This record gives sequence, structure tokens and C-alpha cells, in this order.
Amino acid sequence: MTTAQKLGFDVQLSDHARTAAERERVMESPGFGQVFTDHMISIDYTEGEGWHDARLTPYGPLTLDPATSVFHYAQELFEGLKAYRQPSSGAIVSFRPYANAARFNASALRMAMPELPEETFVESLELLVQTDREWVPTTEGHSLYLRPFMIATQPALGVNYPSKNYRYMVIASPAAAYFGASKAVSVWLSTEYTRAAPGGTGFAKCGGNYAAAFVAQRQAVEQGCDQVVWLDANEHRYVEEMGGMNLFFVYGDRLLTPALTGTLLPGITRDSILTLAGSLGLTAEEGRISIEEWQAGCESGELTEVFACGTAAVVTPVGSVKGADRAWTVGDGTPGPVTRRIREELTGIQYGTRPDAHGWVHKIC
Ligand SMILES: *Cc1c(COP(=O)(O)O)cnc(C)c1O
Repeated sequence: MTTAQKLGFDVQLSDHARTAAERERVMESPGFGQVFTDHMISIDYTEGEGWHDARLTPYGPLTLDPATSVFHYAQELFEGLKAYRQPSSGAIVSFRPYANAARFNASALRMAMPELPEETFVESLELLVQTDREWVPTTEGHSLYLRPFMIATQPALGVNYPSKNYRYMVIASPAAAYFGASKAVSVWLSTEYTRAAPGGTGFAKCGGNYAAAFVAQRQAVEQGCDQVVWLDANEHRYVEEMGGMNLFFVYGDRLLTPALTGTLLPGITRDSILTLAGSLGLTAEEGRISIEEWQAGCESGELTEVFACGTAAVVTPVGSVKGADRAWTVGDGTPGPVTRRIREELTGIQYGTRPDAHGWVHKIC
């Protein structure tokens, strides 16, 4: 298929869609990723034939052969982005969806899975959001979380070759603000476990990275912390990420974020903050920071704030740090002004209350 040829989605609307009253009840406090809209997208891929059978159908369970390759070898990847209702115009928009499309394909190459034309990726999101537009929350700070993903669907246990068949899907879930920006999180430095090693899948948004991470996240909670912070695989010394979010270190008006070495997930929020920094009177650089430098910076007062960033929670302040043999506080342990300003700028662009100087906002309907 060339990008000029549209797949053409077959549309089958649900005959059991939730009523307005049912929807409103669910959307009063949607949580995160717990309730789903009335429809979903599916597109199948077959080796030789390419992508086919693009469709929008009622949301519902899948029937898959128990030998289906994704269950055994985890050939899977996903994306995450949001649709926002802009209060001034009533428009429903998404934020940099082509960046998600490009990252989806970068993940696909690493996982030996087929790429999906970027236009098809964005078109699939548009069709689902347009169909389920009533599910895009009107409450300030809430949004419709979109979850595109792809699984290997060949029912075969042979391990020497990637699957010949795949399915791409999109589901959508109304979402409240994730952690909430008001409270700073505490983090646990994981020196026992590694999220990603050079040559591995750290830069790909694949489920396997998360499967390997849960044990460390559980350990963080056992240590009384909210989130795990990942360190480099070789020395367990250089900071990489926090859970499923990228990290920024604030030295007054200078931002530092760990460079994309291949073991970090290239966050779109991270990239957006690097781009916006200048217009907020901040300088931003990509580099390297060790846990010793993090602690020393906080103790000298030079390192004023630390925050994590990602689509789900936008920007989350980090208030305290704990490791096997050390613990310290960032600033006074509460959210700082730079963190708050960056959060307001990003959400302002997304909700249409700040100018979109970079053309990041993509109107859906
Ligand atoms: C998705 C993800 C992020 C954040 O990426 P965004 O594009 O900003 O949402 C960071 N780290 C990991 C491990 C992720 O999976």
C-alpha cells in the first residue's frame, strides 16, 4: 500500500452503546484506563498482502488461538496519546499525533513488526475519536486517552522467525489527570534491576519493557516510594527514567534531561519541553547525571527541582529520593515554580488557552 491509497475503514456501529446517562456516570470519576468507549479500530496485516480489513467495530473481546505468538513471545508494541476538548472553541484536538506515528514505526522496526503508514495511524485515531466524541470529557484537565497497539497474531510456536500476521488496534478511555500535579512523588533508585540495556528494546514502546519493570515498581512501593527510577545497566549510577516517564533536572533556569542513548524511551512530552524551554526563559540541554550528582546538587541547593514528564501525567514533581544506602529531599519536597510553569504551558497549548507556536495541535473535529 502506498500512503496515497487510503485503506478505507469499514464502519460497524455498536447497537449497545452506553446511553448518555450511563456515560456521564462513568465519566464523573473515570480514573485512568479503566473504562473504554463504545468502539475500537482494527487493521490486519498479512505477509505478502500488507495491511487490510481496516474497520471500526463495537468495543469487545478478541478471540485468539492459544498458540498466538504474542502470548508466548511478547511481540507487541503500543502508543499513548490524548484527545482534548478545548473549552473556548469546543474543538476536539490531539497533540503531535504524527510524532506518535513515527515512534510507533520506530518501535515496529525494532520488534521486527510491519510499519503502518503514518496517515493511516492518524486517520484511525480520527475515526475513533469522531465516532466516540461524546466520550471526550468536558471536565478541566480530563481527556480521552488513546491507546494504539499492535500484536503478532500468527498461531505458531516456532521461535526462529517473527510472526507473519499482525493486528493493529486502537482503544480509547476517558481519563482524569494521572497522578495530579499538586503532590510531589517519592522515588526509589533501583540498583538491583535494569529496565533496558544497550542493544535492547529500551527505546521501543513495547509491553515487554513494562513486564520486566513491574517487580522493581513493586519494590519501590515496598520501600515506601511512589515510583521507581531506572539507572544505566552498566554501573547503576546514571539516571535514565522514572517508571514510564522521562526526567528533567532543574538548576535554576537551566534544564537538564538524560540524553537518548538507546536505552531511554524518546518521550514526546520530553521533546516538547526541550523545544519550549527557550520561550519560557529557560535553557535546556541533554546530558548525563549520576545519582551522586543528583544528591550533591540537592544538598548544595544548586539543583532546585526535579520533575518527570509523559503524556498520561503531563508533568509530575519529584519530592524525595531513596536508595539502598542514601535518601534525600529535592528542594523543600514540594512542587516547584519551574515544574508548575512548564505544566501550565504544555496543558495550555493542549487545551487551547496558550498559543500553539509549533503547530503541535491537530484538530480532529
Ligand atoms: C511512553 C513512555 C514515556 C513518555 O513518552 P510520552 O511520549 O511523553 O508520553 C517515557 N518512558 C517510557 C518508558 C514510556 O513508555
